Amino acid sequence: MEENTKKSELEVKARKWLTERGVELEDIAELVYYLQSKYHENLSMEDCLYNVDRVLTKREVQNAVLTGIQLDVMAEKQMLDQPLQKTIDTDEGLYGIDEVIALSIINVYGSIGFTNYGYIDKQKPGILKRLNDKSTGEVHTFLDDIVGAIAAAASSRLAHSNADDVSIDD
Ligand code: MG
Repeated sequence: MEENTKKSELEVKARKWLTERGVELEDIAELVYYLQSKYHENLSMEDCLYNVDRVLTKREVQNAVLTGIQLDVMAEKQMLDQPLQKTIDTDEGLYGIDEVIALSIINVYGSIGFTNYGYIDKQKPGILKRLNDKSTGEVHTFLDDIVGAIAAAASSRLAHSNADDVSIDD
C-alpha cells in the first residue's frame, strides 16, 4: 500500500492540538490494546499505534478533533455564552452533544465501533480516566469522547484489516 506522507494543514493541526491537550497517540494506542488484545493473538502496541495513526488521516476525524477541542478550550477560558458555558464547563450529564461529535468518528469504519466506544466510555481506562478528572481545572468535555471514539474506530479498523477486508480504503 502506497503511503501518502504529505499531511494537510487540517491534519497537522488536529495532531498538534491533541498533543497540546495532553493526548499522545501512544495513549490512544493503549486504549486500542485494552479493547482488542483478547481478540487478536500477538497483538502488538505497534499495530495499535499504526491503526490510530490511520484513523487520524480521515478528514471527518480531524474536523471532530478540532471542533471538540476548540469548544473545550473556550469553555476553559470562560469564553462561551451562557448557558452553554456552564453546560460544557461542568460536563453536564444530559448535554450529549460531545457524544454526537464522537459518533462522526466512530462511523468512519462502520458500526462495529459502537460497541467498543460504549464499553470504553463506561470503563474509562488509561488516558480516559485522566481526562475525566474534574479536579484539574481543565475542561475535556469533548476530548474524552473524541479520544474514546478514535480508539474505537482504530479497533474497528484493526478488526477489518485482520479479516483482510477490502473495504478499508486507506
Ligand atoms: Mg464527554
